[in-house]
Amino acid sequence: MNQSDPTSESSVPPWHALSPEEALSALGASARGLTSEEAARRLERHGPNRLPPPPPRSPWTRLLVQFHNVLIYVLLAAGLVTSALGHWVDAGVIFGVVAINAVIGFLQEGKAERAMEAVRRMLSPQALVSRDHTRVTLPAEGLVPGDVVHLQSGDRVPADLRLVWIHGLRIDEAILTGESVPVEKAIGPVARDAVLGDRRSMAYSGTLVTSGQGSGVVAGTGRDTEIGRISDLLAKVEPLTTPLLRQLAGFGRWLSVAIVALATLAFGFGTLVRDYSATEMFLAAVGLTVAAIPEGLPAIITITLAIGVQRMSQRNAIVRRLPAVETLGSVTVICSDKTGTLTRNEMTVQSIVLAGGPVEVSGSGYEPRGGFTRGGVDLRPQEDADLGEVARAAMLCNDASVRETPSGWRLDGDPTEGALVVLGMKAGLQPQPLSEQLPRTDVIPFESEHRFMATLHHDHQGRAIVYVKGAPEVLLPRCKAVRMSGADVSLDVNAWMMRVESVAGSGQRTLAIATKRVRPEQTVITFDDVDDDLCLIGIVGIIDPPREEAIEAVGRCGAAGIRVKMITGDHAATARAVAQRVGLVEPTRACTGDELNRLDPIAFESTASAVNVFARVSPEHKLMLVTALQAQGEVVAMTGDGVNDAPALKRADVGIAMGVKGTEAAKEAAEMVLADDNFATIGQAVEEGRTVYDNIRKAILFILPTNGGEALTILAAILLGRVLPVTAAQILWVNMVTAVTLALSLAFEPPENDVMRRPPRAPDQPILTPFLWWRIGLVSAVMVSVTFGLFVFEREHGASIETARTVAVNTIVMLEVFYLFATRYLNRSALNRDGLLGSRYVLISIAAVVCFQLAFTYAPPMETFFQTRPIDGAAWIRIIALSSLVLFVVELEKLLVRRFRDRGRALDRKDGGPLP
Ligand code: ADP
Ligand code: MG
Repeated sequence: MNQSDPTSESSVPPWHALSPEEALSALGASARGLTSEEAARRLERHGPNRLPPPPPRSPWTRLLVQFHNVLIYVLLAAGLVTSALGHWVDAGVIFGVVAINAVIGFLQEGKAERAMEAVRRMLSPQALVSRDHTRVTLPAEGLVPGDVVHLQSGDRVPADLRLVWIHGLRIDEAILTGESVPVEKAIGPVARDAVLGDRRSMAYSGTLVTSGQGSGVVAGTGRDTEIGRISDLLAKVEPLTTPLLRQLAGFGRWLSVAIVALATLAFGFGTLVRDYSATEMFLAAVGLTVAAIPEGLPAIITITLAIGVQRMSQRNAIVRRLPAVETLGSVTVICSDKTGTLTRNEMTVQSIVLAGGPVEVSGSGYEPRGGFTRGGVDLRPQEDADLGEVARAAMLCNDASVRETPSGWRLDGDPTEGALVVLGMKAGLQPQPLSEQLPRTDVIPFESEHRFMATLHHDHQGRAIVYVKGAPEVLLPRCKAVRMSGADVSLDVNAWMMRVESVAGSGQRTLAIATKRVRPEQTVITFDDVDDDLCLIGIVGIIDPPREEAIEAVGRCGAAGIRVKMITGDHAATARAVAQRVGLVEPTRACTGDELNRLDPIAFESTASAVNVFARVSPEHKLMLVTALQAQGEVVAMTGDGVNDAPALKRADVGIAMGVKGTEAAKEAAEMVLADDNFATIGQAVEEGRTVYDNIRKAILFILPTNGGEALTILAAILLGRVLPVTAAQILWVNMVTAVTLALSLAFEPPENDVMRRPPRAPDQPILTPFLWWRIGLVSAVMVSVTFGLFVFEREHGASIETARTVAVNTIVMLEVFYLFATRYLNRSALNRDGLLGSRYVLISIAAVVCFQLAFTYAPPMETFFQTRPIDGAAWIRIIALSSLVLFVVELEKLLVRRFRDRGRALDRKDGGPLP
């Protein structure tokens, strides 16, 4: 057995009952972590740290599910009775279509599922690990026993850990124990036989850190964790369904009932009034049924959604839940973070206010080059004790670092803190020697709840000192004195508040830096220690320039009727200045969290809607704002990154988590994750969401009139007592061929050029509006007139039934080809270069359909199967000329509607708006 890796021993010690040191040595690890070579060796032995995926649905169940559909039941019943009547060919075609349909649905659904899965995999969890004596962020899959992992609030614990250091660490273990109150962790050993919920010295894989920080050594990975042992808790595959798909399923059930009722009526009418024989009439009724059923529709909608998800992921918006694709299209308000989303999150300290007056800092970015001036005169940091002390505090009360790489200076950690490290370096300090001189004994980490961070340091003479940095409104009231040329003098809080306002008013982020001496024997820092008696050293002003693309995106959202609200923990004046620069309307008013707290519920609702900038708010305010906006009928998208944002993200119609700076908790609560944290990506996702919805409507608008036209053709024949112009088998051929070619090409339609210039869709708007019903009726009418007309014409001119039917089938298909162009744009004219030639997919699908129809008309096997006959050139000319009518009729309708609408708009303007 390998001596250096004791983790391969078979008997697993009860980790929770060991002391941290015993656990570390039993795992052959040290508190400083493993080397990468050792980790690689262990990875080979233990395998990757991941749970086996949930068992996929077996292919057979997936295939069977395809038949579970009322429309298919109706088809199957029709097929059974047809074969009972001995019409083997018709029955064969019906069963064939059902089978082909199931196979297509099966393949497409598999594709859609894989696409969703691939997108989800882009969100694999990360872990902060000590390797080779530095902290690195790695995919959690690479963890091995013995690794030292660091946790902070919002993390999902990536493996089973024996904790070795903690600070206020609380973990929600509900997924393992069902207990929803977070457990306070400790590092001392617990009894051997303690139950899972009492093992405070452990952090279990899959549980969620709700507050504090901690480090632990990995004791178990993958299957060898508590969660790995209970397999039924594994993540379930989410079904591929959305409200729209459910709405359509309901529509399908309604439609089948209607179709069966209609077919029964037609059967009665035909046998009683028109003297058809029962068999004849039954076949006609079957034809009517299959004609009216839109077989291909469900598959096309699933594909359209899946394509939308893929397009969004290419634009950095990762959809975690399919319904978000639809909801995005109806969003009316986007509530966005400021830092990193609307701004670049590249922070630079630009000014410092000391008791001795303001100091300007030069340089930009994370490169530590630049200097200090006071009133235009160079200032050497060594000459100003207060400046030196600010720099020292800024660097010590800090967890970030910067390093030089070939591509420039890089930041590791929080950008606000990175700016402070760079400030310290500009003042001539180096992180490493400084932290050896004044080692850190304890820390209160930054949380957006309390908005400050404090550290305790001891020097080698045994003196203890606390450094605090945080939001000035939080720290100034706790300060009793201010540092002036090295001495503590009394401080005027109001005068300093005004200095803060003026720095913030220029758009800079403000941070107060303070200090306090404590008794040397103190080694732990609590909130009480920083409650009062602080001594202010200075205020720093940090710039964070707005993102250019965010400015543009805010404008696009405005044009799309979507309001953008900024919600930030930052100072009101800073928020207002940034809001002004990115172009949020009505930026003059910013509301702070304190003001929100004082409002009664009614005033709160009106403020939530009227104000666009909310500053100094905490995560609970986000939840209250979402709720208030929704109460007024808004559809709200809300961004967030912290654990405490999770409730607001869940509550929002579209919760959006940050991919880079967001916590696992936020990502899991969200519907969508921004891979680049960029506001502009939200705008693009909305555009894609609207496009998907449009394309689904187009697919429906395309498919339903085809079914309507076919059904009416058969009905007309029954009513007039003529032979059917198309047989059931031929209708099924048309439906299948056009669904997999023409209708499918609509799933790939690019956004219409006005998608982001029209107001959001009302969330309760049904997919089929009265206008769409009208269009469906109109097109059905054109289809039946042309098809029936040409059929009758052929018959009158002596064509055989078979030939006339072949003409009728080709007419229906050609009508669809022409109608496809008209459907590409819902309201705009398609009679232009872009409308006719703009889509590769449309042209390819038409070419395919033409090949299918030539085979259908001239290939001998088709002749026996579908009873077709070759037709001549003159017939083709008649077919094409008359079929093109549908395009012109629909375009004429669009033209009239546009005219009418523009006139209506002009009238509106005359009535309501000011005269020019
Ligand atoms: P936002 O991300 O909305 O800009 P945050 O919640 O990150 O707001 O920060 C709010 C305030 O907390 C900042 O304006 C700043 O004063 C303070 N702050 C931010 N980061 C830190 C930090 N790392 N340490 C101490 N204080 C901080
Ligand atoms: Mg922040």
